[in-house]
Amino acid sequence: MLLSHFPAVSPPGFTIRPPANHHQLKLRANLKTQFNKKQTKKNKPTTKNKSSNLGFNNVKKEPVWQCVKSCGACCKLDKGPSFPSPDEIFDDPSDIELFRSMIGPDGWCVHFEMSSRTCKIYADRPYFCRVEPDIFEQLYGIEKKKFNKEACSSCVDTIKAIYGSQSKELDNFNHTIRGKSVE
Ligand code: SF4
Ligand code: SF4
Repeated sequence: MLLSHFPAVSPPGFTIRPPANHHQLKLRANLKTQFNKKQTKKNKPTTKNKSSNLGFNNVKKEPVWQCVKSCGACCKLDKGPSFPSPDEIFDDPSDIELFRSMIGPDGWCVHFEMSSRTCKIYADRPYFCRVEPDIFEQLYGIEKKKFNKEACSSCVDTIKAIYGSQSKELDNFNHTIRGKSVE
């Protein structure tokens, strides 16, 4: 998946809260996924009656993850203590070093163009900046079939943390993944 029209995409430290070590990080990611699954089952009877979520065939429409323009929330690489540190995310020391080298004094990635909210090195951005099923599996232990749901909730958490729960960025994302156009 190449998101050439959405230039600021970066998953590190996305949504999974900081555990004690990397294995717990992956476990936490898996537990979160399981929790989502249980919640989906538990909510099934009630969601059937929510007509705003239903298509013509009475099937609940799943939000479809996509990156949105004018966001870049995940390009703030140092998001504070409630997000995992590079050491908790990566096994490879060179990844840790690269990630750290990208953090600017204000916590934003040094390659992030703040005025346009775009990535200055988009075509050459590191692998861990790519929101893709393979990367989520490698970094967070999230099964590919669960990528969509995890990517959606990761963006929501990240956008809330950076721009706030009432932000236009969050509105924009929520509307976009539900197939509504906003600007
Ligand atoms: S937080 Fe999500 S929507 Fe925002 S730039 Fe990152 S991947 Fe895109
Ligand atoms: S290199 Fe920096 S600006 Fe570009 S996608 Fe990655 S974190 Fe964002």
